[in-house]
Amino acid sequence: FSELKQNDPEIAQVLLDEVERLRGGLQLIASENFASPAVIAALGSTLTNKYAEGYPGRRYYGGCEVVDRAERLAIDRAKALFGAAHANVQPHSGASANLAAYAALLRPGDTVLAMALSHGGHLTHGSKVNFSGRWFDVVAYGVRRDTETIDYDEVRELAVRHQPKLIICGATAYPRLIDYAVFRGVADEVGAWLLVDAAHTIGLVAGGAVPSPVPYADVVTFTTHKALRGPRGGGILCTAELASKIDRAVFPFVQGGPLMHAVAAKAVAFGEASRPEFRAYAEQVIANARALTDALAAEGMRPVSGGTDTHLALIDLRDLGVTGATAERSCAAAGITLNRNAIPYDPEPPTVTSGIRLGTPCVTTQGMGVAEMKEIGSMVARAVRDPGAITSVAERVTQLTRGHPVYPRG
Ligand code: PLP
Repeated sequence: FSELKQNDPEIAQVLLDEVERLRGGLQLIASENFASPAVIAALGSTLTNKYAEGYPGRRYYGGCEVVDRAERLAIDRAKALFGAAHANVQPHSGASANLAAYAALLRPGDTVLAMALSHGGHLTHGSKVNFSGRWFDVVAYGVRRDTETIDYDEVRELAVRHQPKLIICGATAYPRLIDYAVFRGVADEVGAWLLVDAAHTIGLVAGGAVPSPVPYADVVTFTTHKALRGPRGGGILCTAELASKIDRAVFPFVQGGPLMHAVAAKAVAFGEASRPEFRAYAEQVIANARALTDALAAEGMRPVSGGTDTHLALIDLRDLGVTGATAERSCAAAGITLNRNAIPYDPEPPTVTSGIRLGTPCVTTQGMGVAEMKEIGSMVARAVRDPGAITSVAERVTQLTRGHPVYPRG
């Protein structure tokens, strides 16, 4: 770091300021985490220099014998961790992993059945502003109005009516477990592939805290930087039958040279996630999310679907007469980072929304538990309800984060 400081003080200052930002506030973005110093060391390594188009033992560049070892370790660890027949660890991100999965399974114009963005699905599941909605004929399912959980009857009806070639489940803002067996049954009934986008939950799967989609899906795509706590990046698991299709879709179809420093960092993260401490972490993430959800509910902040089974809560703010955008701003002013989020059947536009999404991966990595979640729930409620309380909430945020330092000095 001293070399960076000398060579480029402006960027060095950005790095320092970001660590201070993380240390000084509560990070409740459900898709974020704090990667370990070991993961960050691998990311900041000389492996960034190496061109390694292709796969271990089958590269289009010389000098890959060392980086091959990193990728083999990442692949073997991912396969063992998730019990998958095949793993591709090269996708640069979750969106690239999904693009590659589509490329492996579909032709432009094919029909896809996926969860609506407005009900918790991801941009890459058929939004018109994304390749998925532009290049494929996407039919969307959603959640029921009464239970706010996936309408499995609608999924089946739409599948039978539209005969999709691919069915996708997995979401960005869905607090409940997904019944993969039902999706598998529907996919089999209509002869569709089943893709589970486990970007959000793969860390909980790694820790054995939620059921794995691997036994049910033809393809599982994921990100490595959310609850899994690895470097920013993506990955794909699939059946042996689809292995070479998936590999050819990632390279050379979607990507060029893999980011070998990120591949090495993914190997580190898979290694960390296979340890018993990570199992305890994953359980705690969910226990914390439940405690936070209950605390928010006790403050009159309604959890969509009535609760959570995962790492996140989706809160309907309409009873408080506050929009998601306003709540996000009030919390930010108090040092609490979270995001506004559409709730199912949201009357507000996506830039405003009626909801907020909160996740516990970061605060759990910091060592916080149920007692802290109860307090954070009441702090969020105070900040959202009463602008006059923001200063005192901010003071308490500072005290709380001091007791649970992120990346402790030294
Ligand atoms: N899929 C889902 C369900 C996601 O929630 C996300 C990101 O939040 C992605 C894919 C895309 O991941 P990335 O931002 O790494 O492209």
